Amino acid sequence: MQNSRLELNFGREILKMLPSLAGAAARRLGRTPVIMEVCGTHTMAIARSGLKSVLAGCIELRSGPGCPVCVTDQRDIDRIVALANLPGIAIATFGDMLRVPGTGSSLELERARGACVEIFYSPLEAVAYAARNPGKEVVFLGVGFETTAPAIALSIAAAAGQKLPNYTVLSLHKLVPPVMETLLSDPELTVDGFILPGHVSTITGRKAFDFISLKYGRPAVVTGFEEIDILQSVCLLLKQISEGSARTVNGYKRLVREEGNKKAKEILAEYFKPADAFWRGFGLVPQSGLAIKEKYSRFDASAKFALDTPETQPPKGCACGDILKGKLTAPDCPLFARACTPSSPAGPCMVSSEGACAAYYHYEWSEQDREVN
Ligand code: SF4
Ligand code: SF4
Repeated sequence: MQNSRLELNFGREILKMLPSLAGAAARRLGRTPVIMEVCGTHTMAIARSGLKSVLAGCIELRSGPGCPVCVTDQRDIDRIVALANLPGIAIATFGDMLRVPGTGSSLELERARGACVEIFYSPLEAVAYAARNPGKEVVFLGVGFETTAPAIALSIAAAAGQKLPNYTVLSLHKLVPPVMETLLSDPELTVDGFILPGHVSTITGRKAFDFISLKYGRPAVVTGFEEIDILQSVCLLLKQISEGSARTVNGYKRLVREEGNKKAKEILAEYFKPADAFWRGFGLVPQSGLAIKEKYSRFDASAKFALDTPETQPPKGCACGDILKGKLTAPDCPLFARACTPSSPAGPCMVSSEGACAAYYHYEWSEQDREVN
């Protein structure tokens, strides 16, 4: 009770300060400050809580490459669909991947046509499933950032411990700092400050993002997922923008340390090594993925199964790539709410529970907009 009253007062104070901070930042820039929330969970938290309308007029918010499902390259989706159709394969996945459309199909469609696709909440459940089903080749889809990868590494450890011959991982993991480097090197990027992913930072540590300020001169704040965390990070960013300073600040000290989680990093280093990876919208980003080390190649689906599929293009008009780079927002896409809706998605940003288009569709698209469309 005491705590929530304190938070309420703190929130009121922040809201009082916002317009003058935003005004000072806008005067310095000569335009409205643009802030990117890199993490998909922040995108959803901002949309769901109505913070976007609270912040409208003070800042412009853009989403970034922070949803692991959205940034999975279309060709990788096609490879997954092809894999699902190999005889004897059981695809094990988190639920979000089910409806992501590839070039001609999705896991959901293939499951309806008879492919074996099982949804699990933890990769260890998939290992148990493989042990119960020795006649199936169980392939776990390793889609996620630094946060998810340690649990998937532990599933390889469990499968190795049980000497399971029928459990592999298709590692499509992505690392956030390298894609931030790519984003920041883009001369067209007009983002003035970054709200950094809290969960990813619990693993990487704050220092892993220092380059944003030191090398690229932009302020950044590692942020938690409560409204108060987000509001506070916006204030910290606006203050820096108005002063012309740039630091990478830890605004999530209750969970994030300077160096991150040593144990989780050791687990990652045991099973994975950094590798080049393709990101939707960004193309090849050097050393931004995690490949399974040779030592564990018997658990590597890409080594065990032939998965070559031709180069593909996203659907005509789909703007997912530019949305993930912070160049466009959901309603800028010509397919938004027309050829692309949550019940009939054309791109992953409308499918994923952390996708920018789904967030906009569910929480910011008014009844009036619906009538006009
Ligand atoms: S894993 Fe964590 S940091 Fe990454 S998108 Fe999800 S919530 Fe954000
Ligand atoms: S509206 Fe659909 S097609 Fe357009 S960017 Fe969003 S997800 Fe992609």
